[in-house]
Amino acid sequence: MYHHISTSPGMITVSPDRFAAQMAYLAQAGYQTVGAAQLSAYLAGGSLPAKSVVLTFDDGYLDNWVHAHPVLQRHGFTALCFLVTSWPGDGAPRVHAHSGGELPELLGHREGELAIERGETDRAILRWSEIDAMRRAGTFEFHSHTHSHVRWDKVARNREEKCAALRRDLLAARAELETRMGEVSDHLCWPQGFYDDDYRQVARETGFRHFYTCEMAPNIRGAKEAGERSIYRLEVRDRPPSWLASRLWVHSRPALSRAYLAVKR
Ligand SMILES: [Zn+2]
Repeated sequence: MYHHISTSPGMITVSPDRFAAQMAYLAQAGYQTVGAAQLSAYLAGGSLPAKSVVLTFDDGYLDNWVHAHPVLQRHGFTALCFLVTSWPGDGAPRVHAHSGGELPELLGHREGELAIERGETDRAILRWSEIDAMRRAGTFEFHSHTHSHVRWDKVARNREEKCAALRRDLLAARAELETRMGEVSDHLCWPQGFYDDDYRQVARETGFRHFYTCEMAPNIRGAKEAGERSIYRLEVRDRPPSWLASRLWVHSRPALSRAYLAVKR
């Protein structure tokens, strides 16, 4: 799980050089990246090469285009990006790290949040034209992270209002992705990693089956959860490739991963 790839440092930011080094490590170690459909088939009992990874990016930040897209393209890698579908703007694609020219200003995470609150989402978030270019290049797939990113459990006055608001939010996200891309998947990433039984119920009813959490646990093939799947993720930090290698080694071994997480908790 990545958020920002940026020269503006932050808690959930990996620097462009570190990200490039991490991806170079994956390529050199023989890893292949896997898209949402392949992940889904694997979890339902299919097979994948042992060295397979799913790269995910939350929120759809501009820096994903500027710094992640060119690196993924160089390695022939694909990542999943979870879009907050009311955020991307219109306009021509901006300069990215391999296209030549002056790069757009990249906001830090907090500055970006403030810009979004002020309605200046274009300063922090991808444009639809960039999303198109990333899809055409095969570097990114785009999936739902709701339409608004609002934590309805926090702002709704009661359970009924929470469920109704989440339903509208998820349906709006589906409609926007369908309109913009001509397709929408059943993969959904929970805003701020939050979900409860109501959230899962509403998401099921609005057509989602794969729920991406911010929790860490092994993703076990064939383990059924009433026709739906929670997908657990490793938060990749701004660390050298050796750190990523050691984490992949541990968490691709379910028994070891569980033991490690139990000790860590
Ligand atoms: Zn988010």
